[in-house]
Amino acid sequence: MARIAFHNVNVIDGLGGVIRDMTVTVDGLSIESIGPATPGVETPPGTLIVDGRGRWLMPGLINCHYHLCDKWLRSTPANEYEAARLSRLHATPGAHALDAAANATWVLRQGVTTVRDLGGPGSAAGQEMYTNVDIRDAVESGEIAGPRVIASRLMIAMTGGHGTPWFGVREADGPDEIRKAVREQLKGGADCIKIMSTGGLSNYPHESPDTDEYTLEELSAGAEEAHRFNRLITTHAMSDSAVRRAIRAGVDTIEHAFLTTPEGVRAMADGGVSFVPTARVAWRMVRNSPPALAALLDGAGHPDRVLEAVELGIPVGVGTDSRFTMLEEMETLVEYGVPVETVLRGATGTAAAICGLEDSGVIEPGKRADLVLLRTNPLEGLRSAFQGLEMVVKAGELLVASDHSDAPLRPLPPPDPLV
Ligand SMILES: [Zn+2]
Repeated sequence: MARIAFHNVNVIDGLGGVIRDMTVTVDGLSIESIGPATPGVETPPGTLIVDGRGRWLMPGLINCHYHLCDKWLRSTPANEYEAARLSRLHATPGAHALDAAANATWVLRQGVTTVRDLGGPGSAAGQEMYTNVDIRDAVESGEIAGPRVIASRLMIAMTGGHGTPWFGVREADGPDEIRKAVREQLKGGADCIKIMSTGGLSNYPHESPDTDEYTLEELSAGAEEAHRFNRLITTHAMSDSAVRRAIRAGVDTIEHAFLTTPEGVRAMADGGVSFVPTARVAWRMVRNSPPALAALLDGAGHPDRVLEAVELGIPVGVGTDSRFTMLEEMETLVEYGVPVETVLRGATGTAAAICGLEDSGVIEPGKRADLVLLRTNPLEGLRSAFQGLEMVVKAGELLVASDHSDAPLRPLPPPDPLV
């Protein structure tokens, strides 16, 4: 592992701070120092010296809600959704794995250094498979290029609940079976637990986001079991009643909450939970859903709920649910009125806290050296800054660079926004 010195960079530290004209050094896996450049101080031999020329250095992006196996959702037009789902259901484990590996490299080249993968296909072509755990291990061992993966393994849902049969679900009913389902995920290598509290949008009208799917006892059993093994548990929860129930059950994070109320958001603050709104998904569904579903979502006022959460100081994380890029999700949150510095924290320092990664998401000595170098100031324009992505360093390793021939990959300019 080489040493790297970034000279003459403006630092966005992931905690809300902006420090101009700094030198940041990386030694091994970690950030070694941050401070003003000291003339005359010798750089140890073998150091890769990067003249930042006033560019912007920030922590690598952390996607709090991703599915490496489901990027196909991004590119599938609404009228081909059913056919695409069927073809994915019949894809072989090898096809899923290759797809997820390509996707891991795709997001890394856009500046994403960590994804929390909340479930992938659990069976394909009749065979069991657990791709998010496998991809995590392949990235960790250096076999493939990708972000660090925090894997939930299979999602846990009631029999026939949200996610079945498309998205890799361990069906479980009743507190005892849910405990067993949690234990199975941990035995199989899960880093965190994902449980479904309500129906969703992707199988409407066969399921509906305002249908609650687990009881308080069931959710409590899942939360208790995850916490007994010091793992975080997050829940897909759309309705207001499910959001409140999940908070009472002791889950750590609420995903989506597209139908919650101001009182539901207040309950999040009182319960000390974090919130990953996946705002761009709601935004798209309001525009691209059957009329009844679009009206239900539009009437619920999700953008206002997100703003209320920010105002109440709830940790709000950036997560894309595999349909969008991090840039698109961040742009949507800014459109909603969330301050851009809060949005950037939601993709770095706050995201790290949500995912239980104390070592990541901020630029401080001793923290993991996950860094991106941008040509312009992201606080003054997210899209132009990420169009000018120049470098991605992950755990101290230069993996992506526009003008360093020793980096294996080139940055990928953000794709056009998806409506
Ligand atoms: Zn999801």
